[in-house]
Amino acid sequence: MNIDILVRNNIKNMSSYSSARDDFKNEFNKKLIYLDANESPFHNLINRYPDNKHAELKKLVSKIKNVNVNEVIFGNGTDEILDLIIRVFCNPYEDKIITLPPTYGMYDVIAKTNAVENIEIPLKSDFSIDKNEILKLSSTSTKILFLSSPNNPTGNSFNTNDLIDLIKGFKGIVVVDEAYIDFSSKQSLISLIRDNNNLIITQTMSKAFGMAGIRLGMGFSNEKIISYLNKIKPPYNINVLTERRALEELNKIDEIKTNISIILNQRNLLILCLKKLDFVEKIYKSDANFLLVKVDNADKRYNQLMDKGIVVRNRSDQPLCQNCLRITIGTKNENNSLIKTLNEL
Ligand SMILES: *Cc1c(COP(=O)(O)O)cnc(C)c1O
Repeated sequence: MNIDILVRNNIKNMSSYSSARDDFKNEFNKKLIYLDANESPFHNLINRYPDNKHAELKKLVSKIKNVNVNEVIFGNGTDEILDLIIRVFCNPYEDKIITLPPTYGMYDVIAKTNAVENIEIPLKSDFSIDKNEILKLSSTSTKILFLSSPNNPTGNSFNTNDLIDLIKGFKGIVVVDEAYIDFSSKQSLISLIRDNNNLIITQTMSKAFGMAGIRLGMGFSNEKIISYLNKIKPPYNINVLTERRALEELNKIDEIKTNISIILNQRNLLILCLKKLDFVEKIYKSDANFLLVKVDNADKRYNQLMDKGIVVRNRSDQPLCQNCLRITIGTKNENNSLIKTLNEL
């Protein structure tokens, strides 16, 4: 696929902001005196601008994810990367994106913020993708297909062959949002960025990696797409504290893996307990760190839980999710409290 013709002309023709630190090369790693960026000279660990290329973090993340450093972009949360993607490819009032509800609400919000129409092609009743309908609607103005696998709020992963057919058959960019991939029994599609130049994978530090508070999202794609995204990326979008904290946490990768396996165990236990409740009608299969649970009356159960100090998400207003609550897997103690409370209702 020719990526260049998908890119907006104004983006193609612009050059990116050149920061003070882009203007020179410190070839011999000399100790330099920085009088170039109007920073404060008084050291307090945060008086300097962050590295706009995030070199140290990129090196570590690319090693963990088994990609090249020039196949990675960081954002202030995944949400910023999703916004960059729309702004690189979609002309306002002209181009469209496709999303598959029920799904992550930010795709729609970001599209509308950018005056880009969102064509919604609902999932089938078993939460699988309506592949033929998507390919039928794929045109030169449907620039991006956003899908979340595992999907939020349904919790399922999509069939890998369906995803591959879409990546191969869709006429624009395909974004596979893998926010929950570390909880999934399915493999990440990250390795497919090499052979499919219209594919962007997004992942996040917010879920399995336990760092929602530092706002760090990751995008993976080929060098060409990454360089277009970098062109419009705010240069200092990842702040010094975020980068430092991410480096610290990623060096404790064993702890992160242990926590993931605890969550997966707790997910199984919670399913067993929920099954015994007579007002629970269905527990959907989950590949994520939450369960979508159909109950007799979601508003009522939501309020009852809230009264007891337990907050879940009521997803009843989403298509195909009538009377569904989305329950995040907590610690063992938190889940026990949830079950105890539910048993007493
Ligand atoms: C939570 C979530 C994200 C993460 O967003 P961040 O901005 O990185 O915190 C992205 N996509 C989906 C589907 C999510 O559920």
